Amino acid sequence: MVYLLKLGELTLKGGNRGEFEKVLKRNLKALLKGAAAEIRVTNGRYFVDVPEECVKQAENAFSRLFGITGWASTRVCEKTVDAMLAACIAEARVLEQKDVKTFKIEARRTDKSFPLDSYGVMANAGRSVLESVPTLKVDVKTPSAVINVEIRERIYVYSNNVKGLRGLPVSVAGRGLLLLSGGIDSPVAGFLMAGRGMSIDAAHFHAYPFTSDEAQQKVAKLAEILGRYTIGVRLHIVRFTDVQMRIKERAPFPWATVLLRMAMMKASENIALQCKAKCLITGESLSQVASQTAENIACTQSVVATPILRPLIGMDKEAIIRISEKIGAYRTSILPYEDCCTLFSPKHPVLRGDVKEALSLFEKLDIAVLIERSVKERVVYRL
Ligand code: ATP
Ligand code: MG
Repeated sequence: MVYLLKLGELTLKGGNRGEFEKVLKRNLKALLKGAAAEIRVTNGRYFVDVPEECVKQAENAFSRLFGITGWASTRVCEKTVDAMLAACIAEARVLEQKDVKTFKIEARRTDKSFPLDSYGVMANAGRSVLESVPTLKVDVKTPSAVINVEIRERIYVYSNNVKGLRGLPVSVAGRGLLLLSGGIDSPVAGFLMAGRGMSIDAAHFHAYPFTSDEAQQKVAKLAEILGRYTIGVRLHIVRFTDVQMRIKERAPFPWATVLLRMAMMKASENIALQCKAKCLITGESLSQVASQTAENIACTQSVVATPILRPLIGMDKEAIIRISEKIGAYRTSILPYEDCCTLFSPKHPVLRGDVKEALSLFEKLDIAVLIERSVKERVVYRL
């Protein structure tokens, strides 16, 4: 089977195009995981030749590939008018079986030596289809299906068009460090930034034994799911028990959550530096919970200079859940293992923290050494 992949936004990026196409090809190869596929790039079109036994695997890979707007399985035929017409009729018969009633032909010709120009292809193919498949009618304005004919080094005919993920190829925008909890939001945040071209490292903070092994396994599973789109994820598991204990001992309890977030940012900035990530990514969404008011977000970021990206900041929970389901993370995210122990979570948290006060409380924790040690002792997995 020969597939045609349609490139998205990257075709707009003038000077970077060559580099983007190279990355896209590399990502596709990685997602195909050794399937016997041959990738050819001509004129901004990707053709992927896949043996029958690898079709499923290939379609799976395409559906996880950022940077393409869509893909189609094609009929390939010899470069003669008769072969082209026969392929169009065969395609039309498939449409008829799917109960399609109206169609149009679209043609593209990069090989100018073909005896028909694009208009000639459309007119001839349209006529042949109408004669051979009488249940189909032409509708040039709003057809139910389009039969595409591309005249290149061979002829490609296709009508099925599966939507791709769009976005930019993973890694063209460098690396980001995702703060990955076990919840619904952060995996979605990572997915969205991957779609803007970021490779993802993830950091997870736990308070074992106050949090469970299952909670960590759940996070590893979420990282693995995210990694299906980001061509793998490196997961940094950080034991934050001592840090959390220190906060519990020394800070006013209503401040515990904000101070913990500040400590996480500090540690994450350190990890980001080591894994060459340019930014931190969180699943914060404005006003979703007490720690996510504008004031508390200001407190959270006040201890780091690294930019913090929050792709969900203006999204509501419904929209976030839809993406979570689409990427296959939702069922795992809602498993009941908590990534945070209630022992450390105030019932009445500070809602509008003052940055100066936050910084002064943070200072008093005298926590830098504990944070540094937890980062140093982190465990790193490749998923
Ligand atoms: P999520 O659904 O992602 O867990 P949430 O709605 O529970 O988010 P918070 O608990 O306030 O919101 O967390 C906000 C963000 O802080 C998370 O999206 C995540 O990026 C980060 N975060 C929270 N807890 C952890 C943790 N234990 N390890 C790593 N990052 C965390
Ligand atoms: Mg959470």
